[in-house]
Amino acid sequence: MVIVMAPSATDADVTGVVAHIEAHGGQAFVSRGVMRTIIGVVGTEDVLETMDAAGLPGVSETMRITAPYKLVSAQNHAKRTTVRVGGVPIGPDTFTLIAGPCAVETAEQTLAAAHMAKQAGATLLRGGAFKPRTSPYAFQGLGKVGLRILADVRDEVQLPIVTEVTEVADVDVVAEYADMLQIGTRNMQNFGLLQAVGATGKPVMLKRGLTATYEEWLMAAEYIAQRGNLDIVLCERGVRSFEPAIRNMLDVSAVPLVQHLSHLPLIVDPSHAAGRRDLVVPLARAAMAAGADGVMVDVHPNPETALCDGAQALVGDSLDELAEAVTTIPALLGRTSATHLAG
Ligand code: PEP
Ligand code: MN
Repeated sequence: MVIVMAPSATDADVTGVVAHIEAHGGQAFVSRGVMRTIIGVVGTEDVLETMDAAGLPGVSETMRITAPYKLVSAQNHAKRTTVRVGGVPIGPDTFTLIAGPCAVETAEQTLAAAHMAKQAGATLLRGGAFKPRTSPYAFQGLGKVGLRILADVRDEVQLPIVTEVTEVADVDVVAEYADMLQIGTRNMQNFGLLQAVGATGKPVMLKRGLTATYEEWLMAAEYIAQRGNLDIVLCERGVRSFEPAIRNMLDVSAVPLVQHLSHLPLIVDPSHAAGRRDLVVPLARAAMAAGADGVMVDVHPNPETALCDGAQALVGDSLDELAEAVTTIPALLGRTSATHLAG
């Protein structure tokens, strides 16, 4: 069971609810968020049945949830959630395009990529300053310098920014610059990092782990939600498969099924799934047709000289094709394109 406290609830109200739960033999887990306090209740069926917390002072809502992930479960949610990133909605009524370079390399390259993204209809800019690379010899990102470049480009191009954080020690600095924090596939089960990003109160994009089941993915989201932060967007980016021709295998089934299990928005990253440009647009179209709430793609002004993932970056005709798909396919499913104004 989950008890949601009213924004006006006092510390004494929270203590009163915890005491009530414990008096009935249950265990209480208090998550104090920026906006509200949520109390998770663990106990036997008997405990949950006899404990009537709905009328206690400060309680806004009580929810019985049988799924192992309580706060992110679709149970008791009549409608899926819309998360706003710098005013841009990501949710069931809209379709959001996020685009940008895999890595921030220079101010010029990032600005050029941001213009390409905007031209294609993107309303959010992606770009990595802290890069989790398989090889320790590969370009590791510009770190804080990259964050400053992203912030300058945001001001110039007027697109809120999404960027990855890979370590607990960097969470504060990344949160200072970013509009949305990205947790990459390799860190999906870095529980300390999940808790730290949850505590910032900033929207979080949680990518699916390379080999994660839906339940493991949603339990990871629950770690963020437990810190009182429900502004979470799930991102399917392909899973490890036996086929060497593709980087990862895009799991299109995840789109409708995880949207059925959780109220959180779900987007797809076809670039990191495919690993090659010629597959990105077909996979993006599949994601749109399956009902994704958005897609995130890599773009680069000069993919052949890119320091990271150039082979999958869209440019020229491939980006035009993506832009065309974004204006036609989601509309067939009743979605409008996300804009800043929609918020
Ligand atoms: C990325 O989006 O830049 C990235 C590293 O993706 P993933 O974590 O999905 O590999
Ligand atoms: Mn990449």
